[in-house]
Amino acid sequence: MTEQDGKDSKVIRLFPAKDGSRPADSPDGETVGSGAGNPEAVRQTIVGLLGDAEPIPESPPEGPAAPEPGHRNAVLCPQCDQYTWRMTQHCIHCGADLAAYAEERIYRRRRRWAIAGWSILVGSWFVAAGCFYAYNHYYRVLPPKVRGVMMLTALGIVGVNLFLGWITSADSRR
Ligand SMILES: [Zn+2]
Repeated sequence: MTEQDGKDSKVIRLFPAKDGSRPADSPDGETVGSGAGNPEAVRQTIVGLLGDAEPIPESPPEGPAAPEPGHRNAVLCPQCDQYTWRMTQHCIHCGADLAAYAEERIYRRRRRWAIAGWSILVGSWFVAAGCFYAYNHYYRVLPPKVRGVMMLTALGIVGVNLFLGWITSADSRR
């Protein structure tokens, strides 16, 4: 009986039986502790236990652990340089918006290509214009071979431009 009492004194019964005694059908040996029957004492005990409890550490918003660096879906976060998941929208370390970053990168790359493309295109127009000009104005000075190459170059540039223009308009019409 004494051993049983020592064990039972650690058990706090939150919903004591009305008559204050152990119910006959209680299978787990749960029984009335020191504060049983007194709601204020029970409340005090609970508050004390809650005060002793370790605070739950705050977990990052998206939960899962970081991937191993060798994992096929591990990517380096562009903001904090730690490994995070490829398919999650936010970095699990710093919360950076990876989708927005990828979009921005594509946009910037596209703009770079557009600038380079237009530079080459406009440059080619000048070359073509120069070839036409030289062909007409230095007709007698230039050897026929050079004139032939110039005309072919100019016509080629015009052809490529027409082709690119056709592709672009077909692209935007789709
Ligand atoms: Zn990050």
